[in-house]
This record gives sequence, C-alpha cells and structure tokens, in this order.
Amino acid sequence: MSLVTRFAPSMTGYLHLGHVLHMLYVWGIARAKKGKVLSRIEDHDLARSRPEYEQAILSDMEWLGFFPDLGMTTSNALVPSPYRQSDGAAFYEDKLAKLVEEGRVYGCECSRKEILSNQKKGPGELCYSGTCAQKKLPLKGHTVRFRCSDNEVTFHDLARGECHQMPKEQCGDFSLRDHTGQWTYSFCCVCDDIRHGINLVIRGQDIFSSTGRQIQLFEKLEAPAPDYFHHPLLFNDTGQKLSKRQRSESITQLRETGISPEEVIGRAAFAGGLLSEPHPLSMNDAMALNYLELKGDGDNDSSSILQRINP
Ligand code: GLU
Repeated sequence: MSLVTRFAPSMTGYLHLGHVLHMLYVWGIARAKKGKVLSRIEDHDLARSRPEYEQAILSDMEWLGFFPDLGMTTSNALVPSPYRQSDGAAFYEDKLAKLVEEGRVYGCECSRKEILSNQKKGPGELCYSGTCAQKKLPLKGHTVRFRCSDNEVTFHDLARGECHQMPKEQCGDFSLRDHTGQWTYSFCCVCDDIRHGINLVIRGQDIFSSTGRQIQLFEKLEAPAPDYFHHPLLFNDTGQKLSKRQRSESITQLRETGISPEEVIGRAAFAGGLLSEPHPLSMNDAMALNYLELKGDGDNDSSSILQRINP
C-alpha cells in the first residue's frame, strides 16, 4: 500500500514560516517514500474561516513550489469539493449516524461556564465530567459528545516511539458537533482522514495531545488509524509558537516585499534546524537534504524517521 499523507491548513489566517517547515516535512517524507500528498481545506470553523484565505494559501503553496498530488489547488479553489470540510456535512452526518446507532454519543446542554466550574484546578485542557451522559437529551440543538472509553490508548509516533494517552482523563467525552450544528476539528479530521485514505499523518507537536482521542474515533468508526509523526514547531523571539492567531508574519506579506520563494524556504529550513547556515533553497533542493535521516528520540531506536515508515 503506498503512502498517502496530507497538508491540511485551517482557513483562519495566512500561511507563515511554520507552515513552510511543515510542508518540508510533508513533501519531503512523501517524496522519499514515493507516496502522495493530498491538500485539504480545513474550514470546519465557519465563524473564523474566510474564503480569501483559501485562495491565498493555495497560491502561496504553489508559489513556493509545493504542488499536491491530490486535492485542492488554485485551479479548483472555491468550487465545491470533497477536499473541503464545509462541503463535507453529508459524510460527517453518515459517520455520526454510525456512532448514534452504537450508542457512542449523547446530547449535552452544559455551558462552557458550567464545565469550567466543574474543573479540577491545575494545568491541562478543559475536561468534561460527563454531567449529561445519562440524560438522553436530543442531539439536535445540543452539543453532541462522544463517549470515550476508559482505556489508555497506545500508539506509535515516528519521532517519540511508543506513546500513551488517556482521553477520558485529558478531555473527557469530547464534542463532535456544537449546539449550533458546527462540526469540531477532531471529528472532521478523523472523518476526512478516512474518506481521503490517509495512512500517515504528519503534523506539528502542538496537536500531539489530540491523537489518542482521534484513535478512539477511528476504532469506533471501524477504520484503521493512520501512523503518526509529530514534528518540531517554530517559535518566535519570545518563545511563542508561530501561529496565525499571534499574527506571525505571513508568506503573503513576505511575497509583497519582493522576496524569492527560495529565500522563504531557506529561512524556514534554517529556523527549523534543517540547515546549519541560512541560505536560499528551492523546494526541489530542499527535498534532497538529508534532514529526514534525523533520528527520533523514542524507543532507543537508532533508525531514522524514514526507516521507521512502512513500507
Ligand atoms: N488544520 C490543522 C492546522 O492547521 C491541522 C490538523 C491536523 O493536521 O490534524 O493546524
């Protein structure tokens, strides 16, 4: 079975240097393994997503030289597509119906304020305590929650080795759809990875903690979970992760200064530790670097990330 991975940016802002580093990992691994890259428009967040980001992101990808083998490109931007989440409601409904049939979901009427007031103090994300789990509320008009199992999830990350997560303790029964009918990130992401045949998920370490709960969804939807590689992120001078919300300098802004794609790729590769000196680098030259020969830190395994990918 050949490798299919994906580039799945959210439509809540423009691309920044962190995305360029991410694309170097995604395309680098796919090329080295003779696999395919699919590009997907993650616009499940209807309040924050904007169509102009879709156009700009696809244009910036192509300007940099990252062309996907499947999915969205500038030539099919903004037309209905199975590779865009806001067009995927029928598929998500179908997958939700399967979970409903198996009694894996329930309606919840708790407000964020109520959930917050039930929290144990301490670091970590918001954890739902299951207040509505037995109330049998209708799904329509309520938050739809997934009954996660009590089990620990064990999975393998190409960089970290064997990993363990307890979704029940991390986030509790998490939401698949909010009371307004908007689908959530984890549900759309798992449904899409199923419909797009993704067998390797390459993404930043910031999303690592969602992996266990997503694997529980794959299991209940009777689909094989993909393999995972969570790569390092880029940070700004104050130690914050580069992000759209922080309004990190965008590729669109950099393009307006007359910079070349090679300079942008060189900057991202240097900032991400893939180059020891900053210098311009084309997308094709970047693919020839041996950064994927880097060793993971898990399992005392001395093989490289690439050697750990099957086939
Ligand atoms: N859309 C997410 C992001 O831009 C990526 C989600 C994923 O790779 O699972 O951060």
